[in-house]
Amino acid sequence: MRLLIMGPPGAGKGTQAKAVADHFSVPAVSTGDIFRANVSGGTPLGVEAKRYMDAGEYVPDEVTNNMVRSRIAEPDAAGGFLLDGYPRTLAQVAELDGMLKAGEHDLDAVLVLTVDQEAVVARLLKRAEIEGRADDTEDVIRRRLEVYAEETEPLIAVYDERGIVVRVDGMGEIDEVQQRIFAALDDLQD
Ligand code: ADP
Repeated sequence: MRLLIMGPPGAGKGTQAKAVADHFSVPAVSTGDIFRANVSGGTPLGVEAKRYMDAGEYVPDEVTNNMVRSRIAEPDAAGGFLLDGYPRTLAQVAELDGMLKAGEHDLDAVLVLTVDQEAVVARLLKRAEIEGRADDTEDVIRRRLEVYAEETEPLIAVYDERGIVVRVDGMGEIDEVQQRIFAALDDLQD
């Protein structure tokens, strides 16, 4: 299985990505998590990424593309992967297409979590209190939602044209959403 999970910041992608990846025995590759690990580790990549992340802006494509390319070339991703947070721009879509083509693979599905805008702001503010993520302040959250609407939402239409988008309602309890996702993906496999 080669899957993407998409949705606005706060849609619950990270939480659901882990469950879906476990279900299909593939690694969940989250660009946000990889960037945050590099920030905590103080690596050069982390130092570079932090400037953008703290402002709610995207890290430059070149940096992100190279990072994903090497991650999905690792042995544990040979049988598939679930990408969370990538691609986020049209240029990244083209790069991913190239990476997949090189391995003669196709994407099986693009899972899109649909959520209500005000609900995600509330969720992110709550997460800010619990996890203290540097990019979870109200101004930065609004900026991240704007950048998502401008740069990333249009990607759904691209994948829609390919007929591989699976939309799932992301509102409700974590378990409920998870059941919806499994039902939708199992339908796909039949
Ligand atoms: P969110 O919960 O806002 O979707 P993520 O944890 O996925 O956040 O990502 C956090 C930040 O990491 C983003 O705001 C961005 O700065 C950076 N980032 C993650 N993935 C990408 C990407 N594919 N391209 C550029 N920047 C990215």
